[in-house]
Amino acid sequence: MTRWILKCIVCGEERIFEAAFNLRLFGGKMYLYCRKCKANREHLILGCEEGGEECLSAGVDVID
Ligand SMILES: [Zn+2]
Repeated sequence: MTRWILKCIVCGEERIFEAAFNLRLFGGKMYLYCRKCKANREHLILGCEEGGEECLSAGVDVID
C-alpha cells in the first residue's frame, strides 16, 4: 500500500488516501469524496507520503 497525499481543489483540504495501485495513472487528478465539502470533488494528487522505493518508482511512469 502506498499512502498518497490528495488535495481537494475546491476547499484545499488535504487528505491521505491509501491505495495499492499507482494514482499517478489518473493524470494527477481524481474524484474522491471530500468530508469538508460533503461531496465528490476533484482532488490533486500531490504525491506519496513516504519517499520509499515504491513511491519513487511510481513516478517514472509519468515522466513521459
Ligand atoms: Zn473539499
